[in-house]
Amino acid sequence: MIDTHCHVDSDQFDPDREAVIHRALEAGITTMLAIGTGEGPPHLDAAIQLANQHSCFLATVGVHPHNAIRVQPETYPELIRLAKHPKCVGIGEIGLDYHYDFSPREQQHEVFIRHLALAKDLKLPIVIHTREAWRDTIDILKQHWDPALGGIFHCFSEGIDEAREAIDLNFHLGLGGVLTYPKADKMREAASFAPLNRILLETDAPYLAPVPFRGKRNEPAYVVDTAKRLAALRGLTLEELDELTTQNFSRLFSAKLEQLA
Ligand SMILES: [Zn+2]
Ligand SMILES: [Zn+2]
Repeated sequence: MIDTHCHVDSDQFDPDREAVIHRALEAGITTMLAIGTGEGPPHLDAAIQLANQHSCFLATVGVHPHNAIRVQPETYPELIRLAKHPKCVGIGEIGLDYHYDFSPREQQHEVFIRHLALAKDLKLPIVIHTREAWRDTIDILKQHWDPALGGIFHCFSEGIDEAREAIDLNFHLGLGGVLTYPKADKMREAASFAPLNRILLETDAPYLAPVPFRGKRNEPAYVVDTAKRLAALRGLTLEELDELTTQNFSRLFSAKLEQLA
């Protein structure tokens, strides 16, 4: 099973990072995609470091919309350099976050668009973070993105209409712990509707732990709890869902994974 979105570099894991990774492997998580946003520029290699240290990690690089304000001209060449690392399979997480508005929206747009250009040049898929900014995110993607390269709407927790829009743009839905929350009926409808070749599992650890760990620190091993819920929802066995989502991941990131093999 694959955790397609985690932040194991987070300082929340400083006391026991190796144990967390060990528990993930014990739980059957063979691959974790470490999201390389870290603390933001100039520190852009958090995920690459994990990928260098552990065979079970792949990495992305990118500037989170929260940190758009910290981008400098030299950030982009550095991102390009890191993206060429053999285990860096995509660009992200990038997008828009109007919930916190930690960076001015205009700057979030500019940084998002620059990342899309960079990902197109490098021919890499993207990982999207969008919160309370659905319409603007879709508009920017329609204008500035090449859907053929693919990507993930991570922590997808919208409804069927939004799922359809994302899938029409050739994206996968990254489904995480929210799927297990009592009030997430709308998202569960979308997760039931999505074509089986468009779904992926994620934790977003250390955030958004699934039931029964809700409210606690999340970790990659808990992706299994979200998987169980999703398998039941789709009428699949856990093994079938595992195989399917693993294939989806391999297909999406095949450009870099084939070079690695
Ligand atoms: Zn996110
Ligand atoms: Zn994240």
